[in-house]
Amino acid sequence: MTKRSWPAGVTSWEDTVKFAQLLFGMDIPFENYSERLPHATEKSFLLFAKGACAEGRPLRKIQEFIPKQMEEIAEWEQNVRGNSSRPTKSQQMLGRDKSQVYYWSVQLTRASCLCRSVFGADAHQKHVPTSAEVWGTASKFAKLWDATLARNYAHFQTPHMRPIWLDKTWQVLWNWNDHKQHHHIEPHADLCATYNHLDPIASLSFGHGGVLTLTSNIKRSKTPVGPTKMLYQSDGDALLMAGQFQSEFLHGVPARRTWSELRSSSMYAGMQTWEKTGMSREIEMHQGAVTDDPHVRMNCTIRWHSSHFPGCPQAFADPSVLARPGELSTPAAGSRQRTPPKESSTQATQPLLTGAAQAPAARVQEPPVFSGIRRQDSVDEQPSSSKTQRLSSLEESHETIRHLLACIDACVRHSELFALAINGTPLVGATSVHEKTLQKIVETVDCLRRQLLIASEAVQRCGFDESKADAVNYKALDVMALAAQQRKNIQRHLGEFLVSDLRGGGSWMIETKNRPTQNCLRQDPQYRKCLLSHHQLALLLQEALSEDMMRQHQEIALDLRTHAAVLPEKVTCAKRHALAKQHLNEDLGLDSYDVPSGSVVLLKAVEIGYVSVGDGNEARRIQTNRNLWSKLTEELTVAEIATSVRSGILAALEHLRTLDVDRKFCDRTTGETASHNYDVWVWLTTATSPKR
Ligand SMILES: [Zn+2]
Ligand SMILES: [Zn+2]
Repeated sequence: MTKRSWPAGVTSWEDTVKFAQLLFGMDIPFENYSERLPHATEKSFLLFAKGACAEGRPLRKIQEFIPKQMEEIAEWEQNVRGNSSRPTKSQQMLGRDKSQVYYWSVQLTRASCLCRSVFGADAHQKHVPTSAEVWGTASKFAKLWDATLARNYAHFQTPHMRPIWLDKTWQVLWNWNDHKQHHHIEPHADLCATYNHLDPIASLSFGHGGVLTLTSNIKRSKTPVGPTKMLYQSDGDALLMAGQFQSEFLHGVPARRTWSELRSSSMYAGMQTWEKTGMSREIEMHQGAVTDDPHVRMNCTIRWHSSHFPGCPQAFADPSVLARPGELSTPAAGSRQRTPPKESSTQATQPLLTGAAQAPAARVQEPPVFSGIRRQDSVDEQPSSSKTQRLSSLEESHETIRHLLACIDACVRHSELFALAINGTPLVGATSVHEKTLQKIVETVDCLRRQLLIASEAVQRCGFDESKADAVNYKALDVMALAAQQRKNIQRHLGEFLVSDLRGGGSWMIETKNRPTQNCLRQDPQYRKCLLSHHQLALLLQEALSEDMMRQHQEIALDLRTHAAVLPEKVTCAKRHALAKQHLNEDLGLDSYDVPSGSVVLLKAVEIGYVSVGDGNEARRIQTNRNLWSKLTEELTVAEIATSVRSGILAALEHLRTLDVDRKFCDRTTGETASHNYDVWVWLTTATSPKR
């Protein structure tokens, strides 16, 4: 009897089926491929879903995204390098000699993750940012993926069992193979430092058919064992590899020219008729191919980062982990199940000194700093590949490299200024001035990246191998580029609320600067200033934002009747005077506010922006202006308003964590994800009698 781990992991066949339904929908037929595995096992699961991404299915779009994203990267590469020498190299999976191309590949992650897993053949791609948000096509994929999973999950009707993959960081690899160029992948396991066996790996197939060979990875004898099973995927088919699949089995993608040989092996007999037919058709095509057009098979694998590299905005805040560059930031052992965030800092009597409201006074002097270039001491070791060099020239090249790195490091350190510049632009009210500032930042980042790339390649030419060239990394630049892009997106979403009226117009959502100690709104004393984690606020916006209630109450409304579990019944809030409006700018300590389960909660304002600028004595607040609601609904539907509210605030929360990539302003370090570790003040009230 296998253990079930849903909704936090997949360790049984039942879990695997649920996962397939989350990705592909309830109406997709699937087969249990346990008989197709090289040996019997209760720990690994292989699910085949015929047509899960075929014509008419939402994930079909990925087929268009793959070549478009490859074009986008090639164009970007040309721009960054400033010349046209092999602009497509950064998508090739290369052999040791750097000339054989195994196949083409693109790696992307869910924003704001910047992690890149290096598999070896792609070591030369690391200057290419992975975060989907900085790419046009990848952003479209991210949207499609989120929307598809959310829609499929809606059919589960288990709001108290939210699968963790709705919030988790995915990592996709898009592979492009041309059968005519004999592209192939040797038998391997999809293991990397951030992988966890509780997360299944999905593989979607597009275009020409593909063969997958499976090899038992359990060493019984000293002689290496070859593949003993194979399967065929045709256009639109999907596979899920779950449980211990990656440690029990190897999988490989043989070149099409070897298929006729495979057809005479004993593995062929175990295939279903439709697989044999598909395979034979491809073999015929291979033999009969006369024209120049490629026979392309594209493959999308979806994996999950269960941990993050330091310097990634998704990395957790354990200071001991951050102190060890190169190692991973992992959640505390055994904390896989979602537990309520531990509110240690909110027990303090000085609520207003939590990062959510204001940076502690001692930190005010420090501007937010992006981490710079990691300089490994190992650069000074004698590189093995240049042993024959004379000592003097070796010393000379070391000296050159040291200067080079110091110089680039100094450039990248200017990122502090960029962070201030980014943070200085308002969240609401995008003007062309701010657009220009952000554009300038993006251009400067590109320029620095070019210099870093040139320097890093120079290091390699001096005889240092790839690992020594690792002394430079692109994390700081990736963070800046992402932050600028996020700021643009926030301004775009929150800029939707601009309305024109008789007095010249205004915005339904405005940005104000206030005292961080304020505990009551003078005009609207019914709202309480409550402390939520980023994670709680994000869940509320994703699950409980209700268009019906917004229509009724004419403001941002969260319906907890079906999502009672998102908030505790007592929420920490800022204490205020018994006569609400007295001493409203004083820090009176903490209190708690009752939010009975099943309430409708109205949200007036969010105090966003803990990275202090100026004198550090201001809280930035975005709040709604009730008077403009009816004007706004003349120009936007309530559904559109809800979408922009959700996207804008979620983006702003993510943006704050990106700016604080060094985790200096964390409120806690005990959460499972970065979003558990930050707090934010929100002004809310429970709805009593809805106005009609
Ligand atoms: Zn990451
Ligand atoms: Zn693989």
